Amino acid sequence: MDQHVDVLIIGQGPAGLSAAIYTARAGMDTLILGCAPKVAGDYAIDNYFGFTETISGKELIERGRIQAAKFGAEIRCERVLSIHLLDDGSFEAVTEAGTVHAQAIILATGVSRVRPNIPDLARFEGKGVSYCVSCDGYFVRGKPVLVVGEGNFAANQALELLQYTLKVTLCTQGKEPAMNADFRRRLEEANIPIRTTSIQALEGDKFLEQVRFDDGTTLDVDGLFVAMGEASSSDFAYTLGLTRNGVFLEADCEQRTNVPGVFAAGDCVGRFLQISVAVGEGAIAARSAIDYVKKRRKQP
Ligand SMILES: Cc1cc2nc3c(=O)[nH]c(=O)nc-3n(C[C@H](O)[C@H](O)[C@H](O)COP(=O)(O)OP(=O)(O)OC[C@H]3O[C@@H](n4cnc5c(N)ncnc54)[C@H](O)[C@@H]3O)c2cc1C
Repeated sequence: MDQHVDVLIIGQGPAGLSAAIYTARAGMDTLILGCAPKVAGDYAIDNYFGFTETISGKELIERGRIQAAKFGAEIRCERVLSIHLLDDGSFEAVTEAGTVHAQAIILATGVSRVRPNIPDLARFEGKGVSYCVSCDGYFVRGKPVLVVGEGNFAANQALELLQYTLKVTLCTQGKEPAMNADFRRRLEEANIPIRTTSIQALEGDKFLEQVRFDDGTTLDVDGLFVAMGEASSSDFAYTLGLTRNGVFLEADCEQRTNVPGVFAAGDCVGRFLQISVAVGEGAIAARSAIDYVKKRRKQP
């Protein structure tokens, strides 16, 4: 499926839903992608303004969903795998189900970067270990590479690497492969083997040269691309060139990132990790995105 929207909001938590209420009410064609946030369970929320009785996280999020949908926002539980900036300044997001083109993006992905527990990973960062195929794929042209991850995100990264090299292997780091049937088929068609062993050691003099698995086997690789769990704001930051502060995205007081058209709100910005802050930043990000899209529409 190929869809075109004004504003793509990634994240269905308080920040994303709050942003959608504003963009949809302002008449922007708004799509929210993302699934139930962590707080949407049986957790007692006692400190959110206006709720004199304790409300559960589940109910609060459900109310936000209903409100955003009421104003016309489309909401789908669908993960975004990668985002690319196009030549005309718009964005293309690759999702589990297709692609979405957007004039503006609001990142409201919370914080959830999964890092593999591999010894010496940090030592080889920038020397073979990478978190971004579109940034570093070029450096491994024609060379053997390993993608570490178990889900659709990892499968998509492995397939994107084919632009640079056909010698791609995927390692689930001891987990059960969790990619959907379509990605499984595409990996098979591309002859990308899936290893379910765990990496025990990274070896190399200055640069990564070899990976040793816990079954005693080794694999010569020049690149190791980490893609565990689902794509996080850090992963999008790598591909879009967003400035980060550790795992958090940098955004100004209007929730603008350093890339025009990309806004960030809530926990992924890492200020005060609370619902009230996420809701407020979502509203500001929405206002900035609305202004941005309106200005783009006026351009010849
Ligand atoms: C158990 C628990 C209890 C809490 N209790 C309180 C409390 O009492 N009071 C309070 O103020 N705060 C509380 N918090 C903190 C609060 O929940 C967060 O600060 C708030 O939810 C942040 O909102 P957010 O929208 O920025 O991110 P999140 O709520 O984390 O939402 C992130 C969204 O991004 C989506 N997403 C991530 N990656 C992708 C991707 N690749 N593609 C598509 N979607 C993606 C997720 O599916 C999710 O929908 C609690 C948190 C937890 C976990």
